[in-house]
Amino acid sequence: MGQGDRKPKRCFKFEHSTISSQMYLRLASRFLFETDKRLLAKAVWTLGVKGLLSVHKHKRRLKRGEFFPPFLYMSVINSCNLRCQGCWVDVSAKQHKIELDAANETIRQAKAMGNSFFGILGGET
Ligand code: SF4
Repeated sequence: MGQGDRKPKRCFKFEHSTISSQMYLRLASRFLFETDKRLLAKAVWTLGVKGLLSVHKHKRRLKRGEFFPPFLYMSVINSCNLRCQGCWVDVSAKQHKIELDAANETIRQAKAMGNSFFGILGGET
């Protein structure tokens, strides 16, 4: 492999990086200028301000030797008819669903610890 073979690779990386940067700039621009302002304010409050507070409370708990995560993601069921690469749901295991009361209690306890951001994950029913 001569030096001439290496230059196109570098150019490709540069172009790829430039395309990614432009894509992120366009995404940020659309997010800031095309999103409904009330929705934007709510996202900043919920994900930004409350998310930072959750992380701050998490760090204070860690200093006291307590562990409770700043964000909670709940998987509602462990079955799925798809097999996405990288999915951590054990689709071959016996099917389990989280009961509504258990989900509500988990969220209540997490809110009491200062959490305000919850993610609902698959599988699929
Ligand atoms: S649970 Fe979600 S990520 Fe996993 S296989 Fe099903 S659809 Fe894909």
